[in-house]
Amino acid sequence: MTGTVTARVAAKVNVQLAVGGRRPDGFHDLANVFLAVGLYDEVSATPADTPRISVSGPYAERVPLGDSNLAARAATALATWHGLPAPGVHLHIAKDIPVAGGMAGGSADAAGALLACDALWGTRTPREQLLELAAELGSDVPFALLGGAALGRGRGERLAPLPVGDTLHWVFALADGGLATPAVYRECDRLREASGGGATVTDLPAPEPSRALLDALGAGDARALGAALTGDTDTAGAADRTTQATGLPRCVNELQPAALSLYPALADTLATGDAAGALAGLVSGSGPTCAFLVPDVESADAVAAALLGSGTCRDVRTATAPAAGATLLG
Ligand code: ATP
Repeated sequence: MTGTVTARVAAKVNVQLAVGGRRPDGFHDLANVFLAVGLYDEVSATPADTPRISVSGPYAERVPLGDSNLAARAATALATWHGLPAPGVHLHIAKDIPVAGGMAGGSADAAGALLACDALWGTRTPREQLLELAAELGSDVPFALLGGAALGRGRGERLAPLPVGDTLHWVFALADGGLATPAVYRECDRLREASGGGATVTDLPAPEPSRALLDALGAGDARALGAALTGDTDTAGAADRTTQATGLPRCVNELQPAALSLYPALADTLATGDAAGALAGLVSGSGPTCAFLVPDVESADAVAAALLGSGTCRDVRTATAPAAGATLLG
């Protein structure tokens, strides 16, 4: 192919992020319930003499343009796997997913670049191999390819698709600045060690998904999901064992106490969404974006307006879920 190929890729929210012990390789064992949400980046690949990256959109200035860009790394990984020379490709990212917001925007771009370059170069990489390359690029990249909803085990890269019974409505409160994911995991370990629960951060119960949460997701029942997210229903026994072992409050996103510790103002954002009638509010992944589940479009608009008016966030976006995985356009 000689023209331009464009892939569309969605952001994610973790409706559950159960964090187990730190492994010898430095990663944590996770039970990660991913849900793709309808905020999108578009990654376009065009043949070029030398590799090049450009970025447009409201968050463009915060995205690196060199080899460290995850989309560039993805193109190189795909070319290398096929034994191709260094990729002469211009990757353009039309960025609408917040950067360093806990919504896996960089991972989405890597998935988009894999798909777009594969089509541009006619390499017809088998799906399984694309997923393997994706896992090497980052824990969240395979899910960005897959989309929908999935349970991620291991460091989040071993995926099992999950059913979602109906459209779910979300409001996202974007914060000033970002949180670096490794720093949030380090803070999680620090809080766990400091809490006096007696656990060492390498020796914790295996993380498990909440049955009530998976059932609510499968049924597409927003109210039941809200109850599972706020802990109003029984969560998995393992979550209780983690709570006991660490002495920290039980949270469906077990990175949330760490994100709040590093960014205390997020507590006001969560309280504002709660008071405005959200069914549940949580920090998205490693934060600092806060995600609010709402029953319908009208409530989404009301919660978004309340958040914007409160001054507790920089901007607000609404989106529905589940969104599709990385998709070629045109
Ligand atoms: P996650 O939820 O997967 O932890 P995140 O949403 O918090 O990720 P990203 O937006 O993926 O964070 O960006 C994290 C960092 O990665 C950024 O600060 C940026 O320096 C770097 N980065 C590299 N490539 C990209 C890209 N294509 N888009 C955004 N950030 C990128």
